[in-house]
Amino acid sequence: MSEINILKELEDIVGKDYVSNRSEDLYIYSQDPGASLSRPADFVVMPITSKEVQEIVTLANREKIPIVPMGGGLTLSGLVIPIKGGIVMDMKRMNKIIEINELSRFALIEAGVTSGQLLAYLNTNHPDLQPPVPDAPPSITIAGNALIHGSGYLSQKFGDHGSMINGLEVILPDGELYKLGSCAVSDYWFTRGPIPDFIGMFTSSFGTIGIITKLSIKLFPKHKIRTLVFGLCKDPKTLPKLISNITFDDVAEDILLGIADKPDWMKGYVTIMVYITGESEDEINNKTKILKKLYRESKSRYMKVPKRLEEIFLEKPQFAATAADFRKGGGFEYVGAFVPLKLIPEMIKIGSEISLNHEIIPTLGARLIGQGHAVMFFFTYSFNRADPKDMENARDALHETNKAVLEIGGIPWKAELAGQQLILEKMDTNYKKLLKNIKNLLDPNGIMNPGNWEVK
Ligand SMILES: Cc1cc2nc3c(=O)[nH]c(=O)nc-3n(C[C@H](O)[C@H](O)[C@H](O)COP(=O)(O)OP(=O)(O)OC[C@H]3O[C@@H](n4cnc5c(N)ncnc54)[C@H](O)[C@@H]3O)c2cc1C
Repeated sequence: MSEINILKELEDIVGKDYVSNRSEDLYIYSQDPGASLSRPADFVVMPITSKEVQEIVTLANREKIPIVPMGGGLTLSGLVIPIKGGIVMDMKRMNKIIEINELSRFALIEAGVTSGQLLAYLNTNHPDLQPPVPDAPPSITIAGNALIHGSGYLSQKFGDHGSMINGLEVILPDGELYKLGSCAVSDYWFTRGPIPDFIGMFTSSFGTIGIITKLSIKLFPKHKIRTLVFGLCKDPKTLPKLISNITFDDVAEDILLGIADKPDWMKGYVTIMVYITGESEDEINNKTKILKKLYRESKSRYMKVPKRLEEIFLEKPQFAATAADFRKGGGFEYVGAFVPLKLIPEMIKIGSEISLNHEIIPTLGARLIGQGHAVMFFFTYSFNRADPKDMENARDALHETNKAVLEIGGIPWKAELAGQQLILEKMDTNYKKLLKNIKNLLDPNGIMNPGNWEVK
C-alpha cells in the first residue's frame, strides 16, 4: 500500500491531528537524547483508546510496517529509535488514571501516564500513598519505566519497578486485546498470580512483543518523615558487607552510592546515601543510630551535610545529573547494569577506568534493589552532541562497559542494540531459542520494534 494510503488509514483511525508523516514532526521521533545514531521514522501516531491501538496494530501487521511504542522516550539507549523505520506510536494521549485502590494499594493507569502526573495526583488526592518513580525527568511514563526494569526510591525495599506490575492490558500483533494478571479473572487488578504469569515476557523486551495500553502498578505507604543519612567510604572493598548489614537491619527505604571525581570533595570517596523513613522523630533517631554504628564498624564515616545539599537529594525526582560532567552540546548517555552485591568494588573500578580512558570525568553510582538481591549500577558518559567524534567516544565507552560488565557476571540494563547483541552472545542457547520461538509465535511478521533483541 502506498505511503499516502497508509496515512489516510491512520487518519481514519485517530483523526488528522494525531498522525503525521511530515519531516518536521518526525525529526524528534527519529532520535533520542542519548548517543545512539538517529534513524528516520515514517509516521508518528498518537492513539487515545485501546481500540485505536488495536486498529493501528492490525493495519501495521497487514502491511508489515514496523511499530515502535514510545512513552517519554527518555531511556537514552536508542530503544525508541525506529531502527527499521515505520510507525512510532507515541502513547502520551493515553493518560487516564483509571483507579486508585487505597486499600489494596495499586494504581490502574493508561500507558501514557507520566511519573509527574501520578505523583501529583497522589500527593493531592491520596497523600498517604506513593508510586514507584525513578530519578528521571517527570515526563517519563510509569509504563515505560516499569517495562525496562527501572528503579527508584522504593527499590531497595520492594524491588525493581518491573516486579511492581500487578497486571497489564496488551495489544498483540494479531490486533487482539489481552489481559494479564488477576484482571484476566477478576475485576481487581491486584496481583499477577496465582495463574501462569506472562507479564515478565513484556519487561525488558523493549516493545518487541506487544503494546501495553493499561497497567496496574503497586503503590506504597508514605511515611510522615523521610530523611537521609550520609556516609563516606574510602575503601570500596568494604561496601558489599556494609550494605548487606544495612539491609539486614531493615532500616533503609533506598540506598544510593555516588562515585564522582567532581565536585572535588567527592574524589577518592564513595558517598553512601541511605534514605530512611518513619512515623516519629524517635524512629528516625533510632535508625540513624543504627546506621552510624554500621558505618563505624565498616570503617566508613557518618557525614553531616549542609541542609541545602540534603534538600537537593531529598527531591523527588532529584535532578540526578547535577554532578555529571556536562559538556558543551549537552549530550548525556546514562547507562547501567544489574550486578550482584559482591561486584560493587569491581564495577567502581571498571566505570572509573573506562571514563578516564575516554577523557570523561568519572560520574557513576548505584542503587540497591530488593534488600540487596541486586545492585543497579549507572554510569554517565557525557558528550558534545554537535561533535560526531565525541558521540562515538561515548558509544565506545558504553560498549566497553557492557563487555566488561558481562565478563565479570553482570547484565547490562536497558541495553542499546550493540549491548543486546553482547548479551545474546553470552546467553544460554536454549533461552535464546525460547526467545526466538515466542517472538515468532506472537509476532510472525516481525513488526514490533524490529532490530531489538534480534536472535540471529
Ligand atoms: C536524568 C535522567 C535520570 C534518570 N534516572 C533514572 C532512575 O533513577 N531510574 C531509572 O530506572 N531510570 C532512570 N532514567 C532512565 C529513563 O529515563 C527511565 O527509566 C524512564 O522511565 C524511561 O521511561 P520512558 O517513558 O521514557 O520510556 P521509553 O524510553 O519511552 O520506553 C522504554 C522502552 O519501553 C518500550 N515501551 C514504552 N511504552 C510502551 C508501551 N506502552 N508498550 C510497549 N512497550 C513500551 C519502548 O519501546 C522502549 O523500548 C533516567 C534518565 C534520565 C534522562
